Amino acid sequence: MPKKIDLKDGRFGRLLVIEEAEKENGRTTWLCKCECGNHVKVKTVYLITEQTRSCGCLKKTQDAENLRNQYDNKRIDGVVKPLFKGKEPRKDSSTGYRGVSKYYTRKSKELRYRAWITVNGKRYYKSGFKTAEEAYYQGRLALENEHLPK
Ligand SMILES: [Zn+2]
Repeated sequence: MPKKIDLKDGRFGRLLVIEEAEKENGRTTWLCKCECGNHVKVKTVYLITEQTRSCGCLKKTQDAENLRNQYDNKRIDGVVKPLFKGKEPRKDSSTGYRGVSKYYTRKSKELRYRAWITVNGKRYYKSGFKTAEEAYYQGRLALENEHLPK
């Protein structure tokens, strides 16, 4: 048996160890009070390795900050850039190509493909392609060139 470590009154990040709590899965667990007022039970190992440094409020603050930074980085000229990342067609749409949809010509009912893109809430089209591949490479990519900020 390893020597038991007494963490009582120890401080780990925002946590102050108040007392030993009931063991969880045979591991020593400590009742801690967070600076925000919450109480949490944390295992010794998480405290001494500093994996747990708050009741969870610290992580929430950091997550919110990270999220905001990510979001700010994405917003370029009002367009969320990473959505358009990767020029390779995705195989998960009905036509097998992102931004390409099928339609039938009004009179002759022939199958055609149309490329589309939505930028700042506006939708742009290029129609009349005979294959989804053409619609993607000649339509969708051209639309991206025309309408996405460089
Ligand atoms: Zn807290």
